[in-house]
Amino acid sequence: MRKFADFYRRSIDERDAFWAEQAALIEWRTPAEQVCDYSRPPFARWFVGGTTNLCHNAVDRHLTTRADQAALIAISTETNTERSYSFAELHAEVQRMAAALQALGVKKGDRVLIYMPMVAEAAFAMLACVRIGALHSVVFGGFAAGALASRIEDAEPMAVVSADAGSRGGKVVPYKPLLDEAIALSRYKPTAVLMVDRGLAPMAMRAGRDHDWAALRARHLDAAVPCEWVESAHPSYTLYTSGTTGKPKGVQRDTGGYAVALAASMKHIFDAKAGDVFFATSDIGWVVGHSYIIYGPLLAGMATVLYEGLPTRPDAGVWWSIVEKYQVTHMFSAPTAVRVLKKQDPSWLKKHDVSSLKALWLAGEPLDEPTAQWISDALGVPIIDNYWQTETGWPILTLANGVEPQTARFGSPGKAMYGYNVKLIDEVSGEELTGADQKGVVAIEGPLPPGCMQTVWRDDARFVSTYWKSIPGRMVYSTFDWGIRDADGYYFILGRTDDVINVAGHRLGTREIEESISSHPNIAEVAVVGVADSLKGQVAMAFAVPRDASGLQDPAARLKLEGEVMQRVDAQLGAVARPARVHFLNTLPKTRSGKLLRRALQAVAERRDPGDLTTMEDPAALQQVRELIGD
Ligand code: AMP
Repeated sequence: MRKFADFYRRSIDERDAFWAEQAALIEWRTPAEQVCDYSRPPFARWFVGGTTNLCHNAVDRHLTTRADQAALIAISTETNTERSYSFAELHAEVQRMAAALQALGVKKGDRVLIYMPMVAEAAFAMLACVRIGALHSVVFGGFAAGALASRIEDAEPMAVVSADAGSRGGKVVPYKPLLDEAIALSRYKPTAVLMVDRGLAPMAMRAGRDHDWAALRARHLDAAVPCEWVESAHPSYTLYTSGTTGKPKGVQRDTGGYAVALAASMKHIFDAKAGDVFFATSDIGWVVGHSYIIYGPLLAGMATVLYEGLPTRPDAGVWWSIVEKYQVTHMFSAPTAVRVLKKQDPSWLKKHDVSSLKALWLAGEPLDEPTAQWISDALGVPIIDNYWQTETGWPILTLANGVEPQTARFGSPGKAMYGYNVKLIDEVSGEELTGADQKGVVAIEGPLPPGCMQTVWRDDARFVSTYWKSIPGRMVYSTFDWGIRDADGYYFILGRTDDVINVAGHRLGTREIEESISSHPNIAEVAVVGVADSLKGQVAMAFAVPRDASGLQDPAARLKLEGEVMQRVDAQLGAVARPARVHFLNTLPKTRSGKLLRRALQAVAERRDPGDLTTMEDPAALQQVRELIGD
């Protein structure tokens, strides 16, 4: 009964011995001399002196035991293609891609930006980068030119790997024009662009810069590119995520710690073994895609499903048909996707044999009870909530059924996972809350366990100032989430403490959306807040003050301006960031000292009581919001 409790305690009290054992889950070229160097808090270095390679552990390592077993199953219901790659075939493709990148001049330490739809070549590119010690920086394909440009500027990639187009719901979404526009906008220019031509959209190739993957691949069919053995702390990748400020942060991850953390999570959290089949429905542009579409399953010698398409097309049974066909054992998705399925005819869930499934893990946003109950009844397998962040790379809170079967508690993602010294901190006093059922900021006492972010790319100072607080004698990392813990150690997550919103499991910074809206010539001021939504969890809602409001009494004129604002967000950031509504106000609700009353705005938009408004400058502002929302 106490197996997990002991396991957890050991991970904290005997940290180095615990992680030294986990380190044996991966192969090292040279073993580490020191498990954890925390001499310069909050910077932690894991497995110091050890050298290894992520691609070796994800691919090459399995060649002796399972070369002919499936490694990557790429399915697209958009192009009606299905292709399964064995570990041996994946090995060959990754080397071809690695050789192509090297031919374009990519070397160890260089960044390669990957802006791709969900195709096998995206996985080849990621694995090829880490194979040669280059850092990948995957940018979600749904981001538009402006968002892409700011990431290009920050990452300064030597090369970009992209494709002619993605496809969504049968509609071709060209990538190349967005990439060209982003490179034009960016002050930094990549030297080489490698394009995968899927034959979906015409591409204007720029001589000298743009290269065709098929042509390069043909030249490197027999490529043998050895793995570059890198220091454990060598960065494997950066992945951008939103925070309070407008500028996205490059979350930087190491190599050795990440490989160990993921291998350990496959064993202890997912209770998975080599030969199992993992299907994560996320996108490679998000952290779940990195950890649980690509690296985690492959490190464990599992086959992984890479899926391009909607959960409802050609019909709402498509996921379960994949489960049946490929005997998927582990599935990972987000509550929003399940809510989408819940709106469809429930009989779709009964049309396929899903008996291979052991459990369904859900993450990215709060899991509501009706959704959990519905999918649990329908599938007849455990539904396991898990809470984590781009920054941590693997679950902070969940159940470790591989250690000991644990009971889920509705509304709770679970308990603190091994390695995470989770604390609740009182926001005002900064002190630790040790009692049960107290609300505080979910925090992690340093050092962060292996696999978590090392720093913010090229900005150590920002890493420290954004995330870390000193409490007497120690440093704690803030998750920026509110939480409570019950008497049995189960946590409950109560939403963000900052201005980050969560739309359909996608994390968006409201400031970034505000900056985009403010660039419209007729917008003087704007506030974007997250508003509860029964399908997407939250949606972004914008409240804008026009510079020139004349004519805006006319609903058609308002609609036109709203459309223009939305288009601007679409073009700069991408449709993921588009607000559900843009309301126009005469003035934004502010305190007398001029501080925007975001919480009050959000409360009224959600038809809740905005609380104490005594410091408010002009109560009419909120009244106008009430009228617009409609009580
Ligand atoms: P991301 O970095 O995009 O993975 O977003 C991380 C944020 O999503 C967290 O800080 C939480 O606010 C939210 N989140 C992730 N997983 C959960 C979960 N299981 N329950 C509640 N909120 C979650």
